[in-house]
Amino acid sequence: MLTLYPDQQEYFTALRGLFQPHRSVLAQAATGFGKTVIGCKVAQGAALRRTPTAFVVHRQELVDQTCEAFTKCGIAHGVIAPGHPETRHDIQVASVFTLARRKPRNFRLIIWDECHHAAAAQWRTVSGHYPEAKHLGLTATPCRLDGQGLADLYETMLCAKPMRELIQMGRLSPYRYFNLPVVDLSGLRKRGEGDYSHEALERAMASRAITGDVITEYKKHCDGAPFIAFCHSVPAAQALAESFRAAGYPVQSVDGKMERTLRRDTVRALGRTLVGITSCDLISEGFDCPGAVAGLLVRPTASLSLHLQQVGRILRHVPGKTAMLLDFVGNYLRHYLPDTPREWSLSTGVVKPVREAIECPDIRACEKCYAVHEWAPVCPYCGHVYPVQAKAAPKQEKGELREMTPEEIQALEALARRTGRLADYHAAEKAKAKADKRDYKPGSAWYKWKNRSRRAVGG
Ligand SMILES: [Zn+2]
Repeated sequence: MLTLYPDQQEYFTALRGLFQPHRSVLAQAATGFGKTVIGCKVAQGAALRRTPTAFVVHRQELVDQTCEAFTKCGIAHGVIAPGHPETRHDIQVASVFTLARRKPRNFRLIIWDECHHAAAAQWRTVSGHYPEAKHLGLTATPCRLDGQGLADLYETMLCAKPMRELIQMGRLSPYRYFNLPVVDLSGLRKRGEGDYSHEALERAMASRAITGDVITEYKKHCDGAPFIAFCHSVPAAQALAESFRAAGYPVQSVDGKMERTLRRDTVRALGRTLVGITSCDLISEGFDCPGAVAGLLVRPTASLSLHLQQVGRILRHVPGKTAMLLDFVGNYLRHYLPDTPREWSLSTGVVKPVREAIECPDIRACEKCYAVHEWAPVCPYCGHVYPVQAKAAPKQEKGELREMTPEEIQALEALARRTGRLADYHAAEKAKAKADKRDYKPGSAWYKWKNRSRRAVGG
C-alpha cells in the first residue's frame, strides 16, 4: 500500500494533469520530497490500467533498489537487464543500455529515473523505439553537467517543494556546513563544458597530503559520527579509508568493482560496525544510506547535480539528527548552500547570477569557526561579529580589476532585485553609472570584483 503526503498527492495529481496536453513531462523534486514515492505511484497507476511501462535506470544498483521499492509497494514487475530472464509483466524495471539495445516490447509509458543522466542520443534511441509512448523524467536537478536544461527532451516541467521547505517541515534533516579548504583549486581546468577532468583533479589533489587534515577536522567537528567521504577517485577513497583505519577508525572504501552484496553489506554496516565509508562516485543519486550523519566533501566538482546528490545522501531524515557537512574543497563556492533557493528552468537549467563574476553573493564563511551560512552580520554558529569594512576607493591594481560587460551589469541588477540587499543595489548602480559615462563602450566599467567577492565570502 502506498500512502502519499498531501503535498505529494497534490503534486502527483498536477503531474497527471500535465500528461493530457503533453507527451513528455519533467518532474523536478528535491531530495527528501519523495521522488521514489511519486515514481512508484505512477508505476502503480500504470499497472492498474495495464499500461506497458518501462522504469528506466542507468545503473545496476538502481535496478535492484527500484525492484525493492516496487516490491514494497506491491507492484508486480519484471526486469530488463543482463542476467534477468524476460517476463510478461506490464511494469518492467529496465537498464537504459539494455533497453536501447533491444526493443523488448511495445511500451506506452517510459519513466526515466535520474533523467538528467540520459544522454540525448540514448533518449532518442529509446524514444524512437516507441513513437507512441509518453515520457516522464524524474530528477532533483533538471540540468546537465554543463548546467544546460533539458528542453530538447521534455515539453514541460513541474517543480515540487524546494529543499528549504522540506527541512523546515522535518522531511530532511537540518544541517551545519563547514568550509575547511585544504586544496588550492584555483586554475583547475574543466573537461570541456562538464566537470573537472580526472587529470586536473589528480594533480590538484596530489599537490598536498590532505588525508591528515581531513581526519583532524573530522575529529574536531564531529568525532565518531557515521560519515560518508566523497572522494575524486577510487585510489583516493581507498587511501583515505586506510588513513582513517591507521588513526583507529573502522572505515571501508566502496567502489563499483566490489561484489554487489558485499558492497550493499558494507553500506549497511555504516553506523553499526563501521564509522565511515569512503567512495568515489558510487554513492550519489538514489543510493540510500540513512545511517550517515556527516558528509566529508573531498571531491571538487563543478557539477551542481553531483554536489546536491552527495549532500542529499547526508540529509536523509532521522529524528534528532543534525547533518554535518565538511567541505574541504570549496564546493559551496560554486554551488552555494544545499538549500539555497534555486529557480529551475527547462531551457537553461538553473537560473542564478553569473557565477564567475559574483562568487557567493549571499553567503559567508566564518573565519573563526569555518561555518558557512547565509549572509548575516553575526555568525549564527559561534556568534563571531564580522568587522564592518569601510568602503575604500577601489585601487586600480593590475590583475585585480576587470571590465564589466553590459550582461554582467544586468546580472548584477537582477541579483540586487532578487536579494533585496542594499550593497547589491549600490554595486549595480555604480557599475551602471560608470558604464553610462563611457557610453557602454567595450572596456567601459571597471569594478573591483575580487575585493568584492572576498568581502562577501570572508566577511
Ligand atoms: Zn562562526
